Amino acid sequence: MRVEAWASYRICQLCNKECRSPLSTFRLLNKYLPIPPTDISPANVLCIPCRLIAERCKTDIPPPDMVDRQHPGKFVETVRVFCIEIECADTSCGSRIQIIAPTTRHWNETTLLEDSRSWSVAPSVVCAGEHSPKKPATVLSIKQLRIIWAFFNAAHYSVLGWLACC
Ligand SMILES: [Zn+2]
Ligand SMILES: [Zn+2]
Repeated sequence: MRVEAWASYRICQLCNKECRSPLSTFRLLNKYLPIPPTDISPANVLCIPCRLIAERCKTDIPPPDMVDRQHPGKFVETVRVFCIEIECADTSCGSRIQIIAPTTRHWNETTLLEDSRSWSVAPSVVCAGEHSPKKPATVLSIKQLRIIWAFFNAAHYSVLGWLACC
């Protein structure tokens, strides 16, 4: 049986907690991180340990270290990735602000919705019209992102696509 490699990385400069994910889960998160300065819109990432939503790009979350899943240490086992949309504070704007949330296996759409009142948002997180999100965060939609695997040929398979976000 093939055992998937685990990736160790840190997404949050505030709490600096170590996260560990299967490499495929890290790649799913990484897909949404922009590369500065070519990509203009940053990704807003929710840190589950401290509940801060902040802008992140690929240079904030450098390539992970590969670890053994059993390797000792204190870490957050992030195995799910959700795409969440929250509401802009300007009622005439109507923009949605997209949040990417890597979580442990204990989180789902219902528990994230219940938890959303405790989220704090960094001042740089704004809608397309440069408005801050509503306080407390008002969730419009939550979807779990999944990886679509497809056979490439008889011997190899590769990621052909990703389930569309939101
Ligand atoms: Zn944090
Ligand atoms: Zn707005």
